[in-house]
Amino acid sequence: MTAIETEDKEMRLYGIGASPGICIGKAYLVGKEGVDVIKKYHIAESRLQNEVNRFKIAVEKAKKELQGIIENIPQELREHAYILETHMVLFKDKLLYEKTIETIENEHINAEWALKKVVSNLKAMFHNIQDSYLKERVDDIVHVSERIMLNLVGAETVNIADIDKRVILVAHDLSPADTSQIQLEKIMGFITDRGGRASHTGIIARSLEIPAVMGLDNVTAIIKNDDIIIVDGTSGIVIVHPTEDTLKDYFRRKINYEAYQESINRDGHLLAETVDGFSVQVMANIELSEEIASVIDHGGDGIGLYRTEFQYLSSAFFPSEDELFEKYKAVVEAIAPKPVVIRTLDINGDKAIADTSEFDETNPALGLRAIRYCLKNPDVFKTQLRAILRATAFGNVRILFPMISTCEEVREARRILDEAADSLEKEGVVFKRNIEVGIMIEVPSAVIMADVLAQYVDFFSIGTNDLIQYSLAIDRDNKDVAHLYHPLNPAILRMVKHVADVAREKGIKVYMCGEMAGDPIHIPILLGLEMVELSMNPQAIPAVKSMIRALKVEDARRLMKDILKQTDVKDVLKLLQDNYGTIISEKMYTE
Ligand code: PEP
Ligand code: MG
Repeated sequence: MTAIETEDKEMRLYGIGASPGICIGKAYLVGKEGVDVIKKYHIAESRLQNEVNRFKIAVEKAKKELQGIIENIPQELREHAYILETHMVLFKDKLLYEKTIETIENEHINAEWALKKVVSNLKAMFHNIQDSYLKERVDDIVHVSERIMLNLVGAETVNIADIDKRVILVAHDLSPADTSQIQLEKIMGFITDRGGRASHTGIIARSLEIPAVMGLDNVTAIIKNDDIIIVDGTSGIVIVHPTEDTLKDYFRRKINYEAYQESINRDGHLLAETVDGFSVQVMANIELSEEIASVIDHGGDGIGLYRTEFQYLSSAFFPSEDELFEKYKAVVEAIAPKPVVIRTLDINGDKAIADTSEFDETNPALGLRAIRYCLKNPDVFKTQLRAILRATAFGNVRILFPMISTCEEVREARRILDEAADSLEKEGVVFKRNIEVGIMIEVPSAVIMADVLAQYVDFFSIGTNDLIQYSLAIDRDNKDVAHLYHPLNPAILRMVKHVADVAREKGIKVYMCGEMAGDPIHIPILLGLEMVELSMNPQAIPAVKSMIRALKVEDARRLMKDILKQTDVKDVLKLLQDNYGTIISEKMYTE
């Protein structure tokens, strides 16, 4: 070992696990070459036009490069092409293009410096703005400007598609354009300074099924090209310069994980029935119709949550009824006769929509989100409801209303649903009128009012992601309070039990579609509460099914009594460990 190598101590970095799995390999830094060493210099009056032309040529070149990327996007990622198409328009955005030319001319400075100045002014301008749509647009402008900058400074644009060795990508921020070029035989996984699970990039990583850790803050400043790194996308850990022992340990975990994945995937199609004969439907949560293949591959018993926001977030205009209908029909037909629970728009909160003017909210999570937005914009709502109703003719559809906090909201939502159905009937459109209608239980007031709410609906679907956020007052995206965010918090367990009991008493069904349902460690509790339907990300299905098959509902019921007596998360965990530790550890690759 050289002196330098011995100084390279093992280092662990903690980020957000955006896509599960483990990869071990050499780091490959992408994206910023040349850009950090930009110099400012004066441009004489006589050279100004030349400098502007140099900028224009760089823009044209960048446009061509992006066009090439769009044309070569692999079929399975075509859905993401629209993001790049929006980037094409941004090359000539006033705030970027015209402003840079103006800055070159007015300040007599070189194009690189002018572009850098324009972009940092833009970032500063939007820094304090809460509106996440606008923030995303600035991110898009930054991606576009980086591409122009690489051409201006003459640096080689790293084309991910051209990488010809097996590496792990390390980047400040991978744009959707970068991610869409990933070739599975070359890229083992990726890690980024920025981003989170819900970003487009995270979504693509999960559809590619490669490990990814995001939101690592300054990983690009720490890791150098060719450093050996371990990426654990399940736990969100990156290990730089691993010791021999760590490497051995992670190779073992990787092998175990892959063997485990393979074995449970093989059994993914088996029924989820406990040893004593209690059956659970294990369904999938999806955002895109493209995920259907993954649902089928992983043995999903249907789609328990179809989040419909994506179509609205990805375009500057609201989709038409026909566009929505085509998407819903594709999903419903592909899964039929298994059920598809289509959730109506849950926009705003952390998922802001295109129309920005009215959404400068201080507390978006407590703002005009989901059903509140829909009831305030009945035309938008009715358009979606008509599209969903039309899709009912092609399979087994249920409708789910998100973020219900009052009885009036359910009554009003059902009234608009009736109006949508009446209008279709009048037009002679074929659809099923008597489909099941349910509400998300994800706000504490809905838990407390569950007995009254039950009379208006056919089912409850418990959304623990928001229920935890709203009950424990923890922003689900804030990593500083993430240690408090726990589904096993006794308050959450009591709420879930209350909802399950009320539903049973009132004779309606109760399901769970929050992330709590997708973790095998929670399964004894959910069985103890006799949840008959659980919905989760498709990759989690085989592990959950396999856990259910190893348990007895009778034991789980008994354990639930003890669990409900606990006051602390750690005591609940201990009970689970004491009773199911062996089964859980056999099923966890980390042990
Ligand atoms: C939830 O809140 O638990 C849920 C499933 O909805 P989302 O994650 O889309 O808010
Ligand atoms: Mg929710």
